[in-house]
Amino acid sequence: MTATAPLQIPILDLKPEIDELRPEIMAAIGRVLDRTDFIMGEDVHLFEAEVAAYLGVKHAIGVNSGTDALVIALRALGIGPGDEVITTPFTFFATAESISMVGAKPVFVDIDPATLNLNPELIEAAITPATRAIMPVHLYGNPVDMTRVMEIAHKHGLKVVEDCAQSFGARWQGTQTGTIGDFGAYSFFPSKNLGAYGDGGLLATNDDALADTARMLRVHGSRKKYHNETVGYNSRLDTMQAAILRVKLPHIEKWNAHRREVARQYNEGLKGIEGIVTPELTDGHAFHQYTVRVQSGRRDEVQQKLAAHGIGTMIYYPIPQDELPIYKGQYPVYEHSSLAAQEALSLPIGPGLDAATQQRVLKSVTLIFTSIQQ
Ligand SMILES: *Cc1c(COP(=O)(O)O)cnc(C)c1O
Repeated sequence: MTATAPLQIPILDLKPEIDELRPEIMAAIGRVLDRTDFIMGEDVHLFEAEVAAYLGVKHAIGVNSGTDALVIALRALGIGPGDEVITTPFTFFATAESISMVGAKPVFVDIDPATLNLNPELIEAAITPATRAIMPVHLYGNPVDMTRVMEIAHKHGLKVVEDCAQSFGARWQGTQTGTIGDFGAYSFFPSKNLGAYGDGGLLATNDDALADTARMLRVHGSRKKYHNETVGYNSRLDTMQAAILRVKLPHIEKWNAHRREVARQYNEGLKGIEGIVTPELTDGHAFHQYTVRVQSGRRDEVQQKLAAHGIGTMIYYPIPQDELPIYKGQYPVYEHSSLAAQEALSLPIGPGLDAATQQRVLKSVTLIFTSIQQ
């Protein structure tokens, strides 16, 4: 095999979606050019209203990225130096980074190996007098048990910021993730379930005062222009991105349903292969990623073999947050999170993945595992 064999099946292919929507996207961009309302223009306000209606939440506030959404949520809740926020070690760095960015300390609790999400039953033992909030991450689009998280939060007077970067459209017991805690923080990074064609993010909240503070923070800490009250951010959702997102939003239910169907087919096709653990098909799962666990230390080998078959895969995430250079040595070992980082392998999924392509992936995985066993 040559190390540079091209990946014929990328982990995510945005081209089918772009081909389908190109005329509408071009028209939407054209309207922004005609109006020249590039900052906080008409499409931002319309998108905020449309996404609030879709999520069933009172306020939707467009910001520059998912990371900024997390930071602004924490700032709006008054979380800063001396405070602790409980979260999962098995996530993208932006989760813990946002906590560190406001000067607070991320406190990790291990994941539940069945869901790969933070295990709510471990939260209470991690609470100290400095704990101010819980930041659950709906990893891969799989909703965290928000009933349990909210129960614990209410009992201990803690705030809840849901990291919904991977869970746009996911539901916990029928309710949209991101609308259950004090804030939901979403990312429109191009590869997310609802992706822009650049950076973008959003905050969702049902609290009028928190929404007002978040809107103030996103424009340099000012409610009234040139009357800055605090150090804020330059973190607005671009009008151009909002215009693109408005074209895409009406398709999200169909796209997420397709992702769930792809996941179901994968689970069916991989059933009974020894050494692979498939994800749970929970209700409301948005399958941002379809992630299996490859056991017995064979993950990297399987990934290389799939690459030789032209199949793109990703490891989300190879290093748990507590083991990153920035935090190394400050935390104990989180056993389940550590193991997940060694076993997780995400296969191609997305609204554009057709049945024939999926069958090719399944055939390759099956072939690779059959040859491993011999
Ligand atoms: C993508 C992501 C973020 C950050 O979103 P950006 O828009 O890239 O800033 C935060 N948390 C998680 C879990 C993510 O996957």
